[in-house]
Amino acid sequence: MKELLIATGNQGKMKEFAALFSVLPVRLYSLKDFPDLVPAAEDGETFAANALQKAWNACVATGIPVIADDSGLCVDALQGRPGVHSARYAGPNAGDADNNTKLLEELAGVSLSGRTAAFHCVIALCTPEGEPRTFSGRLCGVILEAAAGGGGFGYDPLFLVPEYGKTLAELPIKVKNRISHRGSAAALLKDYLQRICR
Ligand code: IMP
Repeated sequence: MKELLIATGNQGKMKEFAALFSVLPVRLYSLKDFPDLVPAAEDGETFAANALQKAWNACVATGIPVIADDSGLCVDALQGRPGVHSARYAGPNAGDADNNTKLLEELAGVSLSGRTAAFHCVIALCTPEGEPRTFSGRLCGVILEAAAGGGGFGYDPLFLVPEYGKTLAELPIKVKNRISHRGSAAALLKDYLQRICR
């Protein structure tokens, strides 16, 4: 493999992936290099289905290998919600603050021991010639009753990582990237790419 398109519109993720894969002998592309690419519907029922949809859509359109990820928060007391709907949990135009408010409302009255949750991430790799592959990561934690910390994004201020006694929004970004669902999935993908890109 000589080329790889990182199919994410999120500049933060793009930078993380580009830094991680910079050691590989592969030319990296972003969606900016393919401005006419029509995004996938992202209407799957699992993180893997959505990641595969995004990667396959871009691979067919560009003819080069592509990675795409999908992630979200699954809360046990909410039977896994918001799950694949994490980005738009509080409505089609919802922002992080709206989503966090809705999450706190839905968990009102649930004690700390019942507020267990996990972030999930699946990264899909599609190539024009080979079988698609997926790489998964998970981070377990607890949803607090009030936000803490100013870093990160999304549900980070409500997500306590018990091993650190801090929310993801309180942890340094380097630590978050090492322990996170996305970090774990990306590490598996990097191992795989290192083996096949020699
Ligand atoms: P996507 O993978 O960019 O579609 O992310 C879906 C949604 O999941 C985001 O909009 C966030 O609400 C949530 N999410 C995914 N990863 C994280 C994270 O690392 N911290 C906080 N929220 C996240």
